[in-house]
Amino acid sequence: MIKSVSAALLLISAGAVGAEDARQLEAHEHGVGQLDIAFDGDRIAMELHAPGADIVGFEYAAQSSADRAKVDAAVAILARPLDLFSVPAAAGCSVVEASASLESEAEHGDEDHAAHKDEEEGHDHEDHAEEGHTDEEHAEHDKDHDDDAHAEETGHTEFHAEYLLTCADPAQVTLITFGYFEAFANALELEVQVLSEGGATAFEVKRDAPSLDLRSLF
Ligand SMILES: [Zn+2]
Repeated sequence: MIKSVSAALLLISAGAVGAEDARQLEAHEHGVGQLDIAFDGDRIAMELHAPGADIVGFEYAAQSSADRAKVDAAVAILARPLDLFSVPAAAGCSVVEASASLESEAEHGDEDHAAHKDEEEGHDHEDHAEEGHTDEEHAEHDKDHDDDAHAEETGHTEFHAEYLLTCADPAQVTLITFGYFEAFANALELEVQVLSEGGATAFEVKRDAPSLDLRSLF
């Protein structure tokens, strides 16, 4: 079944014209996630990327048991796509498979260090003002760049989920209601790309209007 999700998601990638390739963890904007949805016969494949800040409110590596519990709870919620992205009952959709995980820069090995350094040189330090660094400290840090703790401190994390649904009547998926925003208080927006027989269509779904009208697709 993994293969069938991948096949459907390949369609999404083709529609995105390489957008996925350009996306990097450090390029994400806190508050904004991406949701790709591909209609393929009676199947709907979905892929979600969301900043750790949106889902659990932090992006450092979870150390305390409370933080680890937050991550585990979030992964469990992310594994229930029809609660987060609910569709009309008339469509008769059910979840064939769902997977969710936390991705972190810390998983990169030492061999990535050079590339990592380049990324950090272009990093917007404003994001980290709350960490209490002065500009002077940053200059010092950038000079002595062999400090592993620094990488952890400035690293971003993202939650990644993949779903495969099967629907008795996919044409009835005329509206998606985003419980996602109720589940995750720091999430403000999802950039949604829908791929159907008619091609790729981009939408923005925001916290204050958490639904997506898909009637134009059918
Ligand atoms: Zn981030």
